[in-house]
Amino acid sequence: MIASPARSAYHTVVVGAGIIGLYTAYHLAHAGAGPILVLDRGFLSSGASGRNGGGVRQQWETPATIRLARESVAAYRRFGREFGYNIWFRQSGYVFVAEDEGQLARLRRVNAVVRGEGLVSRVIDAAEVLRLVPGIRPDAILGGTYLRTDGILYPFPALWGLYEAVRALGVEVLLGVEVTGIHAPGGRVAAVETSLGRIATEHCVNAAGGWSGELSRRAGLDVPNVTTRHEILATEPLKPFLDPMVVRVSDGLYFSQTMRGEIVGGIAPSATLATPPGMGSSLDFLARMSRGLVGLFPQFRSLRVLRAWSGYYDDTPDGFPVIGTDARLPGFVHANGFGGHGFMLAPASAQRVARAVLGEPSDLDPHLFGPQRFSEPGRALPTERLQLG
Ligand SMILES: Cc1cc2nc3c(=O)[nH]c(=O)nc-3n(C[C@H](O)[C@H](O)[C@H](O)COP(=O)(O)OP(=O)(O)OC[C@H]3O[C@@H](n4cnc5c(N)ncnc54)[C@H](O)[C@@H]3O)c2cc1C
Repeated sequence: MIASPARSAYHTVVVGAGIIGLYTAYHLAHAGAGPILVLDRGFLSSGASGRNGGGVRQQWETPATIRLARESVAAYRRFGREFGYNIWFRQSGYVFVAEDEGQLARLRRVNAVVRGEGLVSRVIDAAEVLRLVPGIRPDAILGGTYLRTDGILYPFPALWGLYEAVRALGVEVLLGVEVTGIHAPGGRVAAVETSLGRIATEHCVNAAGGWSGELSRRAGLDVPNVTTRHEILATEPLKPFLDPMVVRVSDGLYFSQTMRGEIVGGIAPSATLATPPGMGSSLDFLARMSRGLVGLFPQFRSLRVLRAWSGYYDDTPDGFPVIGTDARLPGFVHANGFGGHGFMLAPASAQRVARAVLGEPSDLDPHLFGPQRFSEPGRALPTERLQLG
């Protein structure tokens, strides 16, 4: 049975109970704002937040992303103390691997930016890759980069911990309720239209993940967000041998080993095949993923796949998320466009979303993160292109 909202009017309605929506509700409630209502048409973890690889890295091409990632790592380190849930965050590093000089040169540039932000990443040679990734075919790699404080977490307890925390702070979370439109009679958000009827609110946060573009368009806003389906698999367990997350630059192949011993990973979608509908798995993905893994570890030839699934990325043209109030529709706040990396950026990003709702000044560059940036004339600003793993 779906519950009804306890009130007829709210300070903020957050659309989406994924990691971004829940963290935003948490920061808002923590700041004393309210009443707050979180609506999700699915179940907790039905979106990308319950379908991802759990990777948390700070190796990025731009200082702006590195800062959000570093702050988020600090938040995940204290998650257990703050929320009473163990998210099994282990800082066992990320290894990016290059197969040729061009890729290695790119990683060297990334490394310089990361080190410039005070993080001790380093360029490593093939021998060190082999030490960190035992069993990898030495002739398949030239070198790479490594940052030990990157890591992997288990996404589900993060959602459960936040869900309980926000409810304890008085936030209402209703699952199975769809937001179908935005009511903005005077050109400002006044209510959300939902499958339960109209609910009055001063602010609406669009944290709808891969469906955020759809919601913005329902609000009459033209946005460039694009939804792409990404697949992922888990193999049968192997004896523990691998600590870091491994990412190959050439094709976005990434994999890590869970504490149960499974290899979990994915690869960039095929550039030529049309995206199949739904959130299942495709033969094309299984074939490319198997070729990728067996190419690096011939001993994986007989390793069996136990599960495979997919989820949606919410991509933006420049690779930065969209955070802030939409000037075209006051009261409508974007918290979307996180591509394949929303979990690792969530704690710090959601704090900026909450500030936008509260009308507080932001330390984020609006030319990089603001909703208006896509319509800036002659825009030639940095892009965040390390959209791998
Ligand atoms: C295969 C895969 C691997 C990934 N690996 C990583 C990784 O290793 N590290 C990392 O940081 N990130 C990773 N990501 C990306 C990460 O999972 C997402 O960026 C992040 O979870 C987005 O969180 P969200 O809260 O914005 O969206 P979601 O978790 O998708 O939540 C959005 C919610 O909005 C709800 N919703 C949508 N429209 C409506 C509506 N109209 N009304 C009501 N509810 C609505 C949906 O039901 C959904 O629950 C991966 C993603 C995928 C698919």
